[in-house]
Formats: sequence, structure tokens, C-alpha cells
Amino acid sequence: WRRGAPAEREVASVCPYCGVGCQVGFRVRENRIVEVVGRDGPANRNRLCVKGRFGFDYVAHPDRLTRPLVRIEGAAKDPADCLDPARARTKFREASWEEAMERAAAGLARIRDTHGPGALAGFGSAKGSNEEAYLFQKLVRTGFGTNNVDHCTRLCHAASVAALLEGIGSGAVTAPFTAAADADLILVIGARPTENHPVAATFLKDAARRGATLVVADPRGNGLDRFAAEVLRFAAGSDVALLNALLHVVVTEGLYDRQFVAARVDGFEALRAHLAAYGPEAMERVCGVPAAQLRRVARLYARARAALILWGMGISQSVHGTDNARALIALALLCGQVGRPGTGLHPLRGQNNVQGASDAGLIPMMFPDYRRTGDSTARAFLEELWGARLDPDPGLTVVEILDAALRGEIRGMYIMGENPAMSDPDAAHARAGLARLEHLVVQDLFLTETAALADVVLPASAWPEKDGTVTNTNRQVQMGRKAVEPPGEARQDLAIIVEMARRLGLGWSYAHPREVFAEMARAMPSLAHITWERLEREGSVTYPCPAPDAPGEEIVFRDRFPTPDGRARLVPAGLSDPGEMPDAEFPFILSTGRELEHWHTGAMTRRAAVLDALEPAPTASLAPAELRRLGLAPGARLRVATRRGAVECTARADPAVPEGMVFMAFAYREAAANLLTDPRLDPLAKIPGFKFCAARVEPA
Ligand code: SF4
Repeated sequence: WRRGAPAEREVASVCPYCGVGCQVGFRVRENRIVEVVGRDGPANRNRLCVKGRFGFDYVAHPDRLTRPLVRIEGAAKDPADCLDPARARTKFREASWEEAMERAAAGLARIRDTHGPGALAGFGSAKGSNEEAYLFQKLVRTGFGTNNVDHCTRLCHAASVAALLEGIGSGAVTAPFTAAADADLILVIGARPTENHPVAATFLKDAARRGATLVVADPRGNGLDRFAAEVLRFAAGSDVALLNALLHVVVTEGLYDRQFVAARVDGFEALRAHLAAYGPEAMERVCGVPAAQLRRVARLYARARAALILWGMGISQSVHGTDNARALIALALLCGQVGRPGTGLHPLRGQNNVQGASDAGLIPMMFPDYRRTGDSTARAFLEELWGARLDPDPGLTVVEILDAALRGEIRGMYIMGENPAMSDPDAAHARAGLARLEHLVVQDLFLTETAALADVVLPASAWPEKDGTVTNTNRQVQMGRKAVEPPGEARQDLAIIVEMARRLGLGWSYAHPREVFAEMARAMPSLAHITWERLEREGSVTYPCPAPDAPGEEIVFRDRFPTPDGRARLVPAGLSDPGEMPDAEFPFILSTGRELEHWHTGAMTRRAAVLDALEPAPTASLAPAELRRLGLAPGARLRVATRRGAVECTARADPAVPEGMVFMAFAYREAAANLLTDPRLDPLAKIPGFKFCAARVEPA
């Protein structure tokens, strides 16, 4: 890595990390990326964060898998192997592609034919392209014969999507984050863009500098606080109390947009009656924000000419995540802050392609474009397009699939580019489920913690090694291009999926992702007027796009919502416990998440030298006063324990963390935060509450 390193060529592509979707130039010499530069994409305008700029040497890392691996006869699957890649590696031998694919497909086919399609499941990836996501879900639905297909959206914005679909008929953002340029108020809640969407954060800072009122609501101190006019430091898990108090003020003070509500929104009277119990004085006692500030912020939001709401995992990763999002949606609808420049609802998408993978149907209850599996019209259309019968029943979700594996009901899985052994709540439970599978096929770049429990490991391609499209948080479909060749015998993911389909009896013949994209455009009305050729030419097109030469609609729902009658729906949200409450034995709240330098389970960023140098080891962050009370100095070893397990790591003093809370990033194998997290789920969206469980902290 060197700034300005001599290169033979520069390849235009997209950053593979977060949902911002920064356009990058991979500068390449001798089949290696020697530098990454920002390009003038609609979401980044030449800007990049530290991951986008320095996070690419994982591509050429010596740990890359270069040949298929098969488990050695009799080598036991031991969840402890997840902690020790060297020991895990001794349980595999290299194999030819022919042998590995034969074994992979035969194992899946045997389970399908012996135990039925419901004994199989697949996890696709939000790290791959739209074409890979689409083909993967099609393989599971038509080759396995089940809707048991999901991906990390279940751990990410499932609650936001559930509430948005219910409230306004669409799960995507109503406006891009760049709409901040036209907003005079921006509410950021449960999101930490300076860490998790750093380039998006720069647009929010620009807006604040221009004079927009920035309101930041977060239980922890937030990197945007210093740009904010109002900082709401609310108690962890009290989101509904805070938001209902704002709604109460809007309704009781008559600040809502009567015309907008009358013309476009249902459910006002029921919401008004529900909100009577949520006055700011009462909610101050729950959320800890002074009533006067709640009133001030509600008035600011309602009176703003144009107000934009952005939210993140703090809202969605909760056992009442759907209720959190419902309350946010109600706030925007009541105040008519949707469908105009500078207004909107924007759940900041996590993974680079979690929007696209969800759109493409990589979810168990919906086909591509969010058509429910029980919708007979949609099913008939896809059955004809795909030439296969489809199951009308929704499949199981991520956590449910691993629960079913532990019970022996799911017997075989195909996992492409996901790492549930690290990313799932109560990871010991998830690892035990994976280890119990009769047959596990993992397709990945490295021998991940999940691959350590596989029967067959297929070496896949990194993002800069393939062509494909991805869709960012702004609904911008963007073109990624191949910059370097995969190492050794590693293959393109798309080719591996097609080969798996062939061996499972499907007569697929896709030779290039453009053919898959063309089929997607037929299956998905949302992609109307977006073609592969157009993306090659223009780099990025926003959906929905009204005409072949139109740029796409950044602001949607100007006149009507995509519901049967065109109207949105207010759904009241009630108070409930945020999960496992602290007690005498486990007095802290454990909150988990990401940090700027490392991406999710760390498989890529921990193999990037600059990022690893910046954040080389797991830490637990506590308020300095808490550390003093525990007799711990920053840098000391400590132990964090919950009812699921315990890990040891280094103490970090962080004034942003409130007293009574401990924060950990989940990127570190050696102190996997998800060994501690609570697996209970939001009842509707089935998303776990990663931000809240009871924990104990003590010197190690
Ligand atoms: Fe990549 Fe996101 Fe950083 Fe942009 S903000 S460079 S997309 S990680």
C-alpha cells in the first residue's frame, strides 16, 4: 500500500464495505491492488473512509483459500475449532473442484430427497452482487425446494423493513442521505454514521455547517454530537418512550400536518388515543431526557420546512425494533415530512449490498421485489419464469434456521459469504447448530469460523475479482468491475452457484452476470429501465427509474404511497422491556456493534494491515468512572460475562459510554462478543436485540 504507487491501470468499481456505496478506483499493478482512490460517485463525490482507502489487502492475503477443501473422513466437527483456524485446517484435505462439487451437491440432494426440502436451508450474502443474491435464492427455492433462505439483513434492518412495508408499503429509503443538503432539520437516531457510514456522515456534517439543525439521539456519545444543536442522550432500550413523547407533543400541541394526514394517512385517531399516556413528563422518567427538551425537539421537527430522519442498528437491533421504527415512521407521517426535497425516512443500510440482496429475494418470506411467498399471483408469475414449483409457505429466518439445526430439523446448509458462527446472537448456540448439521457447504474467501465446521469449503472470489452490480442505501444500483484475478483455483461465486444448480438438476446456463441481471429485470419491476449496458455506461442508476434516459427518482412517494389505496398507515407502538434486564448478578447493559476500522466479523478488515494496526485487538469500552469503580486501569484485562458465556479482552476508557453500560465490537474471534448476546427476537421481524442484554464486568 502506498499513496500514488505506480499502477498499470485503474478499474472503476464500488467499495465492498458499507451501504454508503462509495465509488472507488482500484489501481492495479501485476494483478495486485496497490492503491484505492475515491471517484465522483453520487454517494461519495470522491470521498472515502479509512476502510475504503486502506481495506483491500485482504484480497491478496496469504490466508485466501486457493483450492477446495473437504473434511477428512472421521474428523469431528468441534465448535472449539472456530477459535483455532490452524486446528480446524488439520481436519480438511485439499480436493479437486470435481470432487468437492460432487460431494457438496450430493450431500444436499441426499438430504432433500430423504428428508424433504424443509430439511435444507441456505444463507446468501449481502457482501456479494445482486446477481449472486438473486441466483442463490433462486437455487434454494427451485433446487432445494424451500423458502429457508435468508441473509444478514435479518440481523440488521429487518425491523425497519417490516415497519416500513407495513406503514408505507415499501422497505427502502424514501430519500437518499444526500437529501441532507436540502433539509433544515436532520434527526439521527440509533445510528453512528461517523463510525459505520463515515462518508454519509460527511454529508450530514456539511449540512450542519450550512446551518441545518442536527438532532442526535443515542444512548452513547456520538461522533456527530459536536455538530448537533440538540443531543438526546436517552436510556438504552427506551426508544419507544422517547419517540412516543415526541409524537405526543406533536399531536397535543396541534403541530401535525393536518392536510397531509387527511389526504394520505390512516390511523390518526387510534394513534392519538394511544399517545395520551405518553406525555413528556411521564416519558422523562423512562428515557431520561428532560421533558422540556423532548418538547423542544418535537416542535423543531414538526415546524421544520423539510426534515430528514436517519436511523441505524440502535433502532432496528432490538426485541422491539419494529415498534421503534413504527414510531419513527409515525413521526414523519404526522408531520408530512416525506416525499419532498430534504424530507424522508432513511434507514442507513449496513452491508454494501444488503439493500440489493433483500430486493433480490434473499429473504424467507418474500420473493424478489418483496412479493410474499403466499401471493399466488406472484408465485404463478415466478413459477413460469423459473420453470419450477414454488413453496407458498414462508421459510425460516437466520436465527430460526440455526435453532432448527440444533434440534436436528435442518440437516443440510449451503452458506455463501456469511459467518453465522461469529455474527449470530448466542454464538455458542449457533456454532453448536452448525456443528450438528449432517452436511454443511461453505463458500468463502477464508477458512472462517463458520467454514471451520463445514464438510466442504469452496474457495470463492473477492469483490474486486468479479463483475456485478450492487445497490446501496440510497437505492442506487451501481456497477462493480473486475480488477484482479482470483488466486489459485478460487472461482467466481456466480459460477459456483450455477454449477451447484446444475448438479442439483437445474438446467441453468448463465455465462455472465449480465444475463442474470437481464432475468432480474424481468422478475423485478423495481429495476424497470435499468439495464446492464446502462450501468456499464453510467456507473449508477437510482430505482425506481421512470424512463430509459431518466436518472431515477431520489425522492419517492411525492403523491401516493405504494399501498393498495395509496395511503400510509400509522401503527401505535407500546412500551415493553428491551430484553434481558440487568440485575444484581449481571448489573451492566452489554451493547454490541461495529467500530470504524473493522467490518462486521472481521474476516476482511482484520486481514488489512493498516486497519489491523489501528485496531489490533478486542476491547470492552466503559465509562472512566465505571473502570475506576472496578479497580481497572485502561489497558487492563477484564472479563465480560452474561448468562450465555464469558470473554476476556482489554479495558478501554470511553467517556461516550454511559455508566452502567459496556460496549464491545463483534469483529474479534478471540473475544467474540456474540458469545454473550441474547438470542431473543423481535416477534414480527425476528431480529435479535444485539444492543441490550444483562452483563457482568470484572477484572480478568
Ligand atoms: Fe466504503 Fe462505506 Fe467507507 Fe464509503 S463510507 S469508503 S462505502 S466503508
